[in-house]
Amino acid sequence: MSRKATGGSPTEPAKPRPVSSHKHRGPALDFIGLDVLWLQITGTVCNIACRHCFITCGPKNFNHPFMDRDQVLTTLEAAKDSGVKEYYFTGGEPFMHPDLLFFIERTLEQGPLSILTNALLIDTITAGRLFELSQASEYSLDIRVSLDGTTAEENDPIRGKGTFQEILVGAANLLRAGLNPVFTVTTVHAQYEGGDGRTLFMEELRQRGFPRPRVKFIPPFHLGREAQRSGEYEESFRLSPGDLFPGEEEVLQCGSCRTVTANGVYPCPILIEEDGARMAGSLEASFGSIELNHPACATCHVEGFSCRT
Ligand code: SF4
Ligand code: SF4
Repeated sequence: MSRKATGGSPTEPAKPRPVSSHKHRGPALDFIGLDVLWLQITGTVCNIACRHCFITCGPKNFNHPFMDRDQVLTTLEAAKDSGVKEYYFTGGEPFMHPDLLFFIERTLEQGPLSILTNALLIDTITAGRLFELSQASEYSLDIRVSLDGTTAEENDPIRGKGTFQEILVGAANLLRAGLNPVFTVTTVHAQYEGGDGRTLFMEELRQRGFPRPRVKFIPPFHLGREAQRSGEYEESFRLSPGDLFPGEEEVLQCGSCRTVTANGVYPCPILIEEDGARMAGSLEASFGSIELNHPACATCHVEGFSCRT
């Protein structure tokens, strides 16, 4: 299968596909080939309902249901044909899926895998099994654990009462089993936006028994429940043609990634609940340049942000 963008006649290139149904015209971003694949394994279904979740995930949100075995295996086959180099499982909460360990084993046969989780379901047995799966593969397995602060007072109003302690227990289970988790911190607390705050966060993790902390900081996206908590994007906060710098398709993940859910293919994991963001029913049909006309794209551009580990 060709890794070049598809569509359009030989004389007339395909029009970039807008990432939202809004009439605003955004800049075009080239597609440089499918390097990274996200699978929304549990769709929008999560065991908690964080106040800053940019896709309103929760126990009752079935807008994107669990992916079934057929969907996951078909996607993995298509990904292999397309030369995918890196895989991500997300949701919702991936550890709610009864077939997750099977999916992990299968994916690790063809590439490195990161799993985004709130760690609430990672007990000692699950952590041990994850370590075994990682040891059996020539590829790496990274578990990304979301945590929103260095104290329960910071984290729990965002993620739910008692979650701070429970998340640390899940993360400690991983560490004891032999997997050093990557903590993912959404910078809803301003003190973690700058270098000093980030250093402090790492130090707190060391104090709490994680001697070699790995942390990824993520800017808030004003979508979903986060839009209700802190306000929606202003209408004017959109990119226009000419705003991207040359080669930005190498920086923005959507230049080389796609997200598959049970409902189809999307440009990235951020926009799966946005009007008009669905691109196609199959991976190959989603290849081609896109038009960044959603305000969330301006966040990625301004922050130079990618969801990758
Ligand atoms: S932020 Fe993550 S853990 Fe929280 S509700 Fe959303 S998907 Fe679930
Ligand atoms: S939100 Fe970010 S990753 Fe998603 S399409 Fe826009 S620029 Fe790309």
